[in-house]
Amino acid sequence: MCIFCKIVNNELPSYKVYEDDEFLAILDIAQTTDGHTLVFPKKHIVDIFEIDDETLSKLITLTKKLSDKVVTKMNATGLNLLNNTNESAGQSVHHIHFHIIPRYDESDEVTISFNRKSKFDLEEILNKING
Ligand code: AMP
Ligand code: ZN
Repeated sequence: MCIFCKIVNNELPSYKVYEDDEFLAILDIAQTTDGHTLVFPKKHIVDIFEIDDETLSKLITLTKKLSDKVVTKMNATGLNLLNNTNESAGQSVHHIHFHIIPRYDESDEVTISFNRKSKFDLEEILNKING
C-alpha cells in the first residue's frame, strides 16, 4: 500500500488541512515553504493519465479553494501549484496529488527555473505533437 493510502487509512500520522469522503489535504512533511500542502483523492489513482475527468475536476476545484485558504491564512503573496507525473518529472509518491507551495518573497528558497535553450525547431516539435 502506498504512503498516501496509509495516511488515508490512518496507518500513518499526518497533519490534515482538509478532509471529506473523497479527498484529503495534508501538510507536506518536507515543507518547501511554510504551508506546503498536498491535495489528493482518497482512492488510489496513480497519476494524471489515470484519473477520470470527474474526480480530476473535483480535485482541482478543491485545490483552488485550499490554495486560497492557505495563501490567505499564511499571509503569502503567491503560490506555485505543482503536479509531478512520473519519475522523470520528480514524482516519488505514485498516488496523484497537487502541491500547493505558498510563496512569500524571493528569499523563500524556492527556485523554479525554466532553462532557455538556444537551439530548437518549433516547426518540427509542432509536427510531432499535431502531425
Ligand atoms: P512528489 O515528489 O511530487 O511525488 O511528492 C511527494 C511529496 O510527498 C514530497 O514532497 C514528500 O515530502 C511528501 N511526503 C512523503 N511522505 C510524506 C508523509 N508521510 N507525510 C506528508 N508528506 C509526505
Ligand atoms: Zn495510494
